[in-house]
Amino acid sequence: MSSATGEKSGNYNTAASTCGPSPPEEALCSLHSEKLRLFCLDHQQPVCLVCRDSRTHTNHRFRPIDEAAQDLREELQKSLQPFQEKLKLFEEVQVKFDQTAGHMKVQAQHTETQIKSSLRSFTSF
Ligand SMILES: [Zn+2]
Ligand SMILES: [Zn+2]
Repeated sequence: MSSATGEKSGNYNTAASTCGPSPPEEALCSLHSEKLRLFCLDHQQPVCLVCRDSRTHTNHRFRPIDEAAQDLREELQKSLQPFQEKLKLFEEVQVKFDQTAGHMKVQAQHTETQIKSSLRSFTSF
C-alpha cells in the first residue's frame, strides 16, 4: 500500500546561487574578485590591480580600462569601415547565391524524381 502523492516540500530551485555574468561596468577579476580597472596590452584583456603586480604580467604594459576602451572603440570604427564595405559586397553576393541556390534546389529535386522513377522501373522487374 503505497501512497505516492506527489507532494513536494522545500524550494531548492529558488535557492540556487545567482551566478550569472556580472554587468560589464562592474566586472570583477575572476582570480582576485577585484574591479577590472586596467587593461593589459600584452594579453589584450582586462585585469585588476592585483593582476598587474602578479608574476603573470611581469613587464607587461597596462592602460586604464577607460582609455583602453576608447582606443578599442576608435580601432573598431577604423576596422569597421572596410568591414561595412565587405558586408555590402557580401550581401550582393548572397543575393546571387540565393538565386543560384534556389536554382540548384529545383535541379536537385528534378534529379531526385528522375532517380526515383528509374529505381522504380528497376524494382518492377
Ligand atoms: Zn586579478
Ligand atoms: Zn599581461
